[in-house]
Amino acid sequence: MQILSIIIPCYNEEETVELFYRETEKIHNQLGKYYFEYIFVNDGSTDNTLKKIKNLANIEKNVHYLSFSRNFGKEAAIYAGLKRATGDYVTVMDADLQDPPELLIEMLRIIHSDDFDCVGARRISRQGESIVRSWFAKKFYQLINKIGEVEMVDGARDFRLMTRPMVNSILELSEYNRFSKGIFAWVGYNTKYLTYENKERIAGKTSWSFWGLFKYSIEGIINFSETPLNIASFIGAFSCFASIIAMIFIVLKTLIFKDPTSGWPSLVCIILFIGGIQLLCLGILGKYISRIFLETKKRPIYIIKEQDDHEWNNK
Ligand code: UDP
Ligand code: MG
Repeated sequence: MQILSIIIPCYNEEETVELFYRETEKIHNQLGKYYFEYIFVNDGSTDNTLKKIKNLANIEKNVHYLSFSRNFGKEAAIYAGLKRATGDYVTVMDADLQDPPELLIEMLRIIHSDDFDCVGARRISRQGESIVRSWFAKKFYQLINKIGEVEMVDGARDFRLMTRPMVNSILELSEYNRFSKGIFAWVGYNTKYLTYENKERIAGKTSWSFWGLFKYSIEGIINFSETPLNIASFIGAFSCFASIIAMIFIVLKTLIFKDPTSGWPSLVCIILFIGGIQLLCLGILGKYISRIFLETKKRPIYIIKEQDDHEWNNK
């Protein structure tokens, strides 16, 4: 029997854990010939999530869990789950049922019959989301696809079915600053996307604030693009060039018209302008350096405080 590992990052999901399991088990029963291995990763929840997961694991022997010592973020939870997964196929799903489990049937069919290593899910609508948020999301994808080193598909979720070789490749990217959307794209492999209409959470609330998402998108750009650095260099070169032109202009003007040079207001403006640009470029540089700093410390990506004592992989 083939094993499908399902990784579920959970942060304050006490209301959804059980619902998620029940809904996905329905699909499991329909599919029959696969063994579903659930790996719930409790990402330092402050509510009763861990308790709910433990209860479930006590009853169901295909439920496993890892519990972090604090909130390390979804990316860390995905990585921990991927490391633990023993399946021939592995998928990552949100606990809130926004990733429809029924898609798994089609995903498994495609990965078996066609020549794909990965089948992802992509939402084609963002209904239920605020207009501002959707707009920024759209702009982010346009930007990252223009300047990034990998292609990221708009609306693609972390929900994807991957084959073992692809999972192993992802595990080789053990960087500390993880941006999964980029990592999935970076490893390559043939990916097909299934589309579906956006679903709203069944219960609980989203843990992503607008500001949180904004910072996350900056993370994506810094991790997968050098364009900001090139822009900084370009601005530097351009302002050098402009200043040479200005110098020639002033010298000629003084020589020809014998104009006494006047104007400290313009000077102040120029100094402020150049100062601003310098700080901006330093800031961009600083962002990259801070990534290097974090990366060289080689801190663990997550710390596991507790885990289940089930025998793994008992088909
Ligand atoms: N999540 C997590 N750690 C975090 C934030 C979120 O493990 O720090 C999980 C969360 O429990 C959920 C998934 O990541 O299963 C997606 O989060 P959410 O539904 O809040 O995001 P949205 O769907 O609104 O983008
Ligand atoms: Mg969600």
